[in-house]
Amino acid sequence: MTATIIDGKSLSQSIRDDIKKQIADRVARGLNPPGLATILVGDDPASQTYVRNKHRACDDVGIRNISHELPEDTSQEELDALIKKLNDDPEVTGILLQLPLPKHLDEESLLAAIKLTKDVDGFNPINIGRIALRGLAPVFVPCTPAGIMKMLKEYQAPIQGANAVVIGRSNIVGMPVSLLLTKENATVTICHSKTRDLTSITRNADILIAAIGKPEFVSADMVKPGAYVIDVGINSVDDPSRKSGYRLVGDVAFDEVAKVAGAITPVPGGVGPMTIAMLLKNTMRALELAEK
Ligand code: NAD
Repeated sequence: MTATIIDGKSLSQSIRDDIKKQIADRVARGLNPPGLATILVGDDPASQTYVRNKHRACDDVGIRNISHELPEDTSQEELDALIKKLNDDPEVTGILLQLPLPKHLDEESLLAAIKLTKDVDGFNPINIGRIALRGLAPVFVPCTPAGIMKMLKEYQAPIQGANAVVIGRSNIVGMPVSLLLTKENATVTICHSKTRDLTSITRNADILIAAIGKPEFVSADMVKPGAYVIDVGINSVDDPSRKSGYRLVGDVAFDEVAKVAGAITPVPGGVGPMTIAMLLKNTMRALELAEK
């Protein structure tokens, strides 16, 4: 069997085209485009790249970038004051605090300080709570989990009643995607670094989500034939054959797993571009909430 490739790049492009058109229509009607404030603290190169990619995506669709780049030694009070200012600024539609923050900062309280209706990353604890509770809907679905759900639905994964296994329980990916799958009536098993006999669990998965952060960790023998495999990992590995000296691989050994799975996301070109498309979509949702 050769798996269907779940093309996150083209799916994300169609979402971006749609948003671009919506914004152009607004502007043609004399209305302001939305504005996304990004806050980057320190000079972590990976975070700089992520923020740069988000800025490019905003530029592409017509969302205004309101960029705040702060030094590594920024204090909790300074950051708190900036978030409050952005919360009250009508020009700012959404606020994105790039993680991870330098160690001396209290991430949790800063995320909680972002106004719920501007929290386009969906990391406010109230948002996560609303995903978990039956009968409640989150204001924003966190971008990576939202992108994963969109890809599964777009490629007709039968979620209801499926055995879904999520490897990883982080606040930004593993835990929220597990909650979303539960909400969609999958039977969900959350695995993590203390899980015993992982393979016996993953081999039962109709839907397998890998969000571990370990290059090519998921091998073919861990995958049920025909399963939907979503690879969230972005890992840099040495590759002397490349000019850069490295290449990006996922948490799944793509070549061997693609021979067993029914459908699989590539890295790059799978979850990554969908995460950015969902950020743009959440910014449009924030605009809708602001204008209600
Ligand atoms: P994290 O480090 O916060 O969490 C990793 C999880 O993996 C933990 O819950 C841990 O228990 C689990 N784990 C570690 N070793 C394990 C093992 N041997 N067996 C089973 N579970 C194990 O990571 P994260 O923030 O969720 O990110 C995971 C990966 O996804 C990283 O590569 C990250 O770069 C990538 N990521 C990609 C996107 C995207 O847009 N594509 C977004 C966020 C994160």
